[in-house]
Amino acid sequence: MSWEANVRKVTPYTAGEQPKGQGVIKLNTNESPYPPAPGVKRVLHEYDADLLRRYPDAGTEPLRSELAAYYDVEKERVFVGVGSDDVLAMAFLTFFNHPSLPILFPDITYSFYDVWAELFRIPYQVQALDDHFRIKEEDYLKPNGGVIIPNPNAPTGELAPAAMFERILRANPDAVVIVDEAYIDFGGESCLRLTDRYENLLVVRTFSKSRALAGLRIGYAFGSPKLISCLQDAKYSFNSYTMNSVTLSAGVEAVRDDAYFREITDKVVATRERSKKELAALGFSFTDSKSNFIFSSHEKYSAKELFEALREHNIYVRHWDKPRIDNYLRISIGTDEEMDALFAFLREYITARGN
Ligand SMILES: *Cc1c(COP(=O)(O)O)cnc(C)c1O
Repeated sequence: MSWEANVRKVTPYTAGEQPKGQGVIKLNTNESPYPPAPGVKRVLHEYDADLLRRYPDAGTEPLRSELAAYYDVEKERVFVGVGSDDVLAMAFLTFFNHPSLPILFPDITYSFYDVWAELFRIPYQVQALDDHFRIKEEDYLKPNGGVIIPNPNAPTGELAPAAMFERILRANPDAVVIVDEAYIDFGGESCLRLTDRYENLLVVRTFSKSRALAGLRIGYAFGSPKLISCLQDAKYSFNSYTMNSVTLSAGVEAVRDDAYFREITDKVVATRERSKKELAALGFSFTDSKSNFIFSSHEKYSAKELFEALREHNIYVRHWDKPRIDNYLRISIGTDEEMDALFAFLREYITARGN
């Protein structure tokens, strides 16, 4: 007899390293290379700590209303959580509850999905991307207990058209379809407007990448009022006060400063497009990323070798020892200076080896 036999055991999600110290170029977790909006800093600086004796607003005001106004949707269509990981976990718990059919997601995708499925004991079936790392639409037209797909996908950066999601939604009136739009602000077409027409669509977003606030932990989602109300019920049955009042106030400022938001996302997109040219010239091939990272593979040097050489040189990128993607590096888009340091290192590495 052992208590251990009755414990819920899970293999947790492994995030990218967070190296500390000077001189590190961190291109491994898709954070923003730019600081958050100036208003965020001001709110954090001026926050009246006396207010903290009160519980925060369980309905996540004032952030929920600010997001509703910014995206021009009714408040009843917005859900706010502690990072999109919290929103997604709550969505798995709420919507993926079919008695027998598995949920479907790509074989190469955000590696948290199978972790939540295991944690909540949701049966799942992965669907292989094609050889160009594209979603095969037909895989999601069969009976299922739910669908979740990131758009653009991670770690490939591949964008699928909103029309594909519309066809998947039409084929799945009995299941909830989740589109994880963590990277949509870097140039993709959002499925947000489809939530008006498809009651079973949940679109999930985050402040962690495009709004430069990974450390604050804010995620949100759009859906029909009915869908969002189911999500709220599950959240209130789990932990009503997930978001603290400081974060709720600071998040509002990040949404209000639209000019700053556009400025930093435009800069990331410009650096990404320039980086594609530099990487191509160095002998890399990659998917046509519409995100803030590039998923690339070199014609001559293995991803593992390059990953280790870069790391040795204090340049951190992401590499997975997983089938089909073990020869790829996922390189987050940094500032122009950081990217130039990366290219300079790679150029020297390649030249030194006579190519
Ligand atoms: C980064 C990421 C998330 C999680 O972001 P949070 O920091 O929890 O908001 C969710 N989905 C995908 C695909 C991501 O890349």
